[in-house]
Amino acid sequence: MIEIKSENELKLISEAGKIVKLILEELKAAARPGVTTADLEQKAVEIIKKFSARSAFQGYRGFPGVICTSLNEQVVHGIPGNTRLSSGDILSIDVGVEKNGYYADSALTIPIGDKVSSSALSLIDITEKALYLGIEKAVEGNRLFDISNAIQKLTESHGYGVVREFVGHGIGKNLHEDPEIPNFGRQATGPRLKNGMVLAIEPMINEGGYEIEILSDGWTAVTKDRKLSAHFEHTIAITNEGPKILT
Ligand code: MG
Ligand code: MG
Repeated sequence: MIEIKSENELKLISEAGKIVKLILEELKAAARPGVTTADLEQKAVEIIKKFSARSAFQGYRGFPGVICTSLNEQVVHGIPGNTRLSSGDILSIDVGVEKNGYYADSALTIPIGDKVSSSALSLIDITEKALYLGIEKAVEGNRLFDISNAIQKLTESHGYGVVREFVGHGIGKNLHEDPEIPNFGRQATGPRLKNGMVLAIEPMINEGGYEIEILSDGWTAVTKDRKLSAHFEHTIAITNEGPKILT
């Protein structure tokens, strides 16, 4: 069942969303060659503490990190550690927090240093554009897979692979609620969208094939062909003024 959130719940989710947004902005500014993914995590820890919030990821099914940091061919769920960023890398950062019982979730992919290839920059650019195209479809009366289809159409037109195993999701009192939001699907199908639904829309797009594998740490998802992958995510609410980004 897809929950309809009250005005007050939207306010609470957007409070969590503001913290997520701030963390991503700070980490984006801090992520440069020589910095480790553990350094970035430490910054996130400090901000989460300052706002008396809680990481949505740490401990979730045993995930060890406070945030997810996924480098180059890593798709999602990379664990922060001693890996040092180099010029030419692309880094996906995924942040989720809970504040006063409500969750928000957002991710972005950024180029590190000035040696990132133009093909990697295009992958980042198109994945972000696909997110915003999907968000535009999140209006009352549309169907859920209108969002999925918009993301799939744009990214596949560039020859990219749309990850199948991981999907977006409803969000609110839990990090993951109904519905599942695949990044592929047929237009004009799926549940009817209604005002008050809150969705985390998150295209995970591969430069090559869509197949992925999980590394031996049990978490890190990588592209099977080891080509690059990008990830963008926002938590949004469907409102009578259209889609509202809460992160
Ligand atoms: Mg996320
Ligand atoms: Mg998510």
